[in-house]
Amino acid sequence: MKAPDFRYERPTDVEAALALLADGDAAVLAGGQSLMPMMNFRLARPQVLVDLNRIDGLAGIAEDGEALRIGAMTRYADLAGSDLIATYAPLIARALPHIAHPAIRNRGTIGGSVALADPAAEMPALLMAMGAQIALRSTSGMREVAADDFFLGLYETARAEDELVTEIIVPKPAPGTRHGFYELARRHGDYAMAGVALAVGEAVRVAFFAVSDHALRAPEAEAALASGDIDAAAAGLEGLDFHADPNADVATKKHLAGVVLRRAWAGSSTGGNTA
Ligand SMILES: Cc1cc2nc3c(=O)[nH]c(=O)nc-3n(C[C@H](O)[C@H](O)[C@H](O)COP(=O)(O)OP(=O)(O)OC[C@H]3O[C@@H](n4cnc5c(N)ncnc54)[C@H](O)[C@@H]3O)c2cc1C
Repeated sequence: MKAPDFRYERPTDVEAALALLADGDAAVLAGGQSLMPMMNFRLARPQVLVDLNRIDGLAGIAEDGEALRIGAMTRYADLAGSDLIATYAPLIARALPHIAHPAIRNRGTIGGSVALADPAAEMPALLMAMGAQIALRSTSGMREVAADDFFLGLYETARAEDELVTEIIVPKPAPGTRHGFYELARRHGDYAMAGVALAVGEAVRVAFFAVSDHALRAPEAEAALASGDIDAAAAGLEGLDFHADPNADVATKKHLAGVVLRRAWAGSSTGGNTA
């Protein structure tokens, strides 16, 4: 099938893109790796498609004091080639080889993944585990939302329809923070059946993906991992809001969550990209 008719706009600055979004019934095109198939299957039918690919300044990774600022249009392939990411966002570096396939990573963007909020996507959980903020802009102004508060449900976020994700702000981890990542997928590069990202340092953050209708923190597991008790952490997953998906029922998700948590913890380390 082909996409229904739409008007195609290719602005060259953010203000023009925001004005088009404010007009209503518009979708932005980032890497197009999810949106184009959704339009071809007629699961998305925007009247106006606002292509962000000609806008300078929406892509790039910059150091800003104690944080990294990652432009929404930064592609997975650029994240993978970045020394700043390897040094200050080792969880992203570890997870990247598991996100889809090289052709998709060449086009897909961090902002696209954040805006889409697929429950099986790695990036929302990574951003929660790193304590990141999502920067949003509309014609009415700018705001930042903590990743913890951004992912609300199945493909549902705190972003209003007229808001553009412009940046992801990732705090640098405190020295000595342990990072761990593990996912189970049927084939390498497929969406995960269950996965987890963890950061254990001054703060302890454990975030799961592909086990519920959105990425979610695991507070009881975090409390147990603060003292390094992985058995108590795994037991503490019992109360999480697990959801079935076409891959697995709730009991299987619960079991797989314990498996990925133990493996992520066993493979965790301090320092940069050592996966
Ligand atoms: C075969 C295949 C396998 C895949 N496997 C994985 C996987 O294992 N893990 C994973 O995480 N993903 C996977 N993906 C999805 C891929 O990572 C997508 O690229 C990503 O989810 C969306 O990024 P995009 O830049 O392509 O966004 P697009 O497809 O362009 O957009 C996605 C949605 O986000 C909106 N959007 C995009 N950018 C912005 C913005 N800056 N502000 C506001 N809204 C915006 C769009 O309007 C659209 O609704 C897979 C895709 C395919 C086709």
